[in-house]
Amino acid sequence: MALPTIDTEYLLDFLSGLLNTPSPTGLAEPAIVFTEQALAAFPDMTLKRTRKGALVATWQGKKSTAPRALTAHADTLGAMVKEIKPNGRLRMTKIGNFAWNTVEGEGCMVFPGRGEPVRGSILFEMASSHVHGAKVNETKREDDNMEVRLDARTTSLEESEAFGIRVGDFITFDPRVELTNGFVRSRHLDDKACVACLVSAVKTLHDAGFKPTQTTYLHISNYEEVGHGAAAGIPAEVTELISVDMAAVGSGQASDEFHATLCVKDSAGPYHHDLSRKLRLLADEHAIPYKVDIYPYYGSDGEAYWRAGGDAAVALIGPGVDASHNYERTHLDALVATTQWLVAYLIS
Ligand SMILES: [Zn+2]
Repeated sequence: MALPTIDTEYLLDFLSGLLNTPSPTGLAEPAIVFTEQALAAFPDMTLKRTRKGALVATWQGKKSTAPRALTAHADTLGAMVKEIKPNGRLRMTKIGNFAWNTVEGEGCMVFPGRGEPVRGSILFEMASSHVHGAKVNETKREDDNMEVRLDARTTSLEESEAFGIRVGDFITFDPRVELTNGFVRSRHLDDKACVACLVSAVKTLHDAGFKPTQTTYLHISNYEEVGHGAAAGIPAEVTELISVDMAAVGSGQASDEFHATLCVKDSAGPYHHDLSRKLRLLADEHAIPYKVDIYPYYGSDGEAYWRAGGDAAVALIGPGVDASHNYERTHLDALVATTQWLVAYLIS
């Protein structure tokens, strides 16, 4: 059977909107709301929140004999104000795992508990070559030599505090979303690309007048980047969980930006063999372009669920994302392949 056509314009519109919605882990609520509003357009969805703030949509299937779940995360990397320096600039602590050089020079936004967000830039504290010479090139970037330069008049701790800024305020990095020749270039495609594939799969089945074969829970996680997103919120009766997350592209990897990937093993070990096999057979049957890969430094919400005692088969699929946890890029082909795979699974 041919799969229903995917509305790529809808997919890219939703993805751009989501990418432009700041949502670092701990302050992911705006992206959860954005996704919730998109899913609310489909009358078959029953939407609920976990107490931790994740979104769980229940989609009644033709049968409920073996319920399933799909999870993707809306939270992203970011930072938090660790200290306001005597010169008014901000020291940061990282949220999630990334290298400081990947955000050096990036525009950012600081969200005070009270007051308006403040614009700024992430800089090395010895930023100017004319002042610091060779040190600009030679110094390792660390927590204690990176800072936020605020686009606000301040040269002291007190003046920065006057803008409402305090220790613990969230800092987000500009995503810089660009769509060119089918490529999507942006920060935080991990994992907003997959949230978009998931919502797009719902739209595809809805437009075609299809229901999922089994009752399916869509879990949109808000704490994945720190390792415990899907540890809660997946209903106990679920028999299979597909974690939908980006594929790691780079030297030595099978994944690329034009395919969806099935990950069979990552840092936490192998995924469920039978469920992985079922997904491969589905992709073969529907001629979905896919790769099979192993990710050397990677964990997923599927494993967070397993570690928390989740008792279901777990597999991992997602679009190839180049330069992950950096200035990322994927291609529409990989997004469509991932969406097709989800559609094929839902109606299998
Ligand atoms: Zn991810």
